Amino acid sequence: MEKILIIDDSALQSAQLKAILEDEYDVTVAQTAERGLDCISIENYSLVLLDVVMPGMDGFTLLKKMQEEIVTQSIPVILITSLSDVEDEQQGFVLGAVDYITKPFHASIVKARVHTHIKLYHYRKQAERQSVTDQLTGIANRRRYERYSAEKWNEAVRLQIPVSICMFDIDYFKAYNDTFGHPAGDDVIAAVAKTAASYLGRSTDFLARYGGEEFVALSLGGSGKAMFQHLKKIRQAIEDLHIPHSSPVSKWVTVSAGGVTVVPPADSSCALYLKIADAMLYDAKKQGRNRVVWADEGMRQQWEKRELGGTI
Ligand code: GH3
Ligand code: MG
Ligand code: MG
Repeated sequence: MEKILIIDDSALQSAQLKAILEDEYDVTVAQTAERGLDCISIENYSLVLLDVVMPGMDGFTLLKKMQEEIVTQSIPVILITSLSDVEDEQQGFVLGAVDYITKPFHASIVKARVHTHIKLYHYRKQAERQSVTDQLTGIANRRRYERYSAEKWNEAVRLQIPVSICMFDIDYFKAYNDTFGHPAGDDVIAAVAKTAASYLGRSTDFLARYGGEEFVALSLGGSGKAMFQHLKKIRQAIEDLHIPHSSPVSKWVTVSAGGVTVVPPADSSCALYLKIADAMLYDAKKQGRNRVVWADEGMRQQWEKRELGGTI
């Protein structure tokens, strides 16, 4: 059931609204704006019905506070007003309310408005999710990577924790498409994403499709040595999928990976370290592909030395 929050100091008014909505929705009532804010910070509501005139913090102040926080600014707010409060309605719209309902309540109108705004809220959420998700693989896309990495980079600078950035890319993939066809190539991209994702499932890990057959992974907190080992495991797991390919390096589909681990210095940029990861990837390709090259915290390069058929 969708969760709705009614914030209203009048027990009678909120009881009337609750009675209208509780058959179809999971309704919570808060009698002060302060209590309402507490509720919003711990529960996910699909809609808030907000009284304007309340003792203590009023509805407008609460609305402003909701607009200032990323997590609450997208929750639709319907104002509860009296017929005479035209100016209140205007002010409410300016502050970001999506609609208003007037007293006395007409059950069918309240239901219709609530229903419409919850539906719109879900369409918007779905569109937002799709805009940052890669269609083919279901993992994050590059746009989401840009946002996520900027956010996490700032956090890591502040907390002085290591960040690892890794780029990996399918080897001789053009040849794969030429031999097996583009649709089969799409399946390979999806399989590589799925395998990599299964190794990057911690809350501090992040994986995105950066472009065509190129992926980027970000991980917080681990040492360069640990991440280098981990990426070697991922590289091996992809080879162990045993997807037939006739590339010069293997009879299976393989990837090359380049990464860097750094405790980010103040006023450093994530983009610079992505370039370093990309340079490591370039080295991995140059050294024969199907291998991992890493730059550790001291910017020393670690090589996965491989020969066809085995790791040295
Ligand atoms: P390298 O080992 O140096 O990475 O060589 P490569 O052939 O993998 O690299 P190149 O950049 O020459 O070719 C990348 C190929 O990836 C070409 C392109 O058609 C293919 N590709 C990119 N995006 C997709 C996609 O979404 N689906 C499929 N099937 N192929 C894609
Ligand atoms: Mg009131
Ligand atoms: Mg490639």
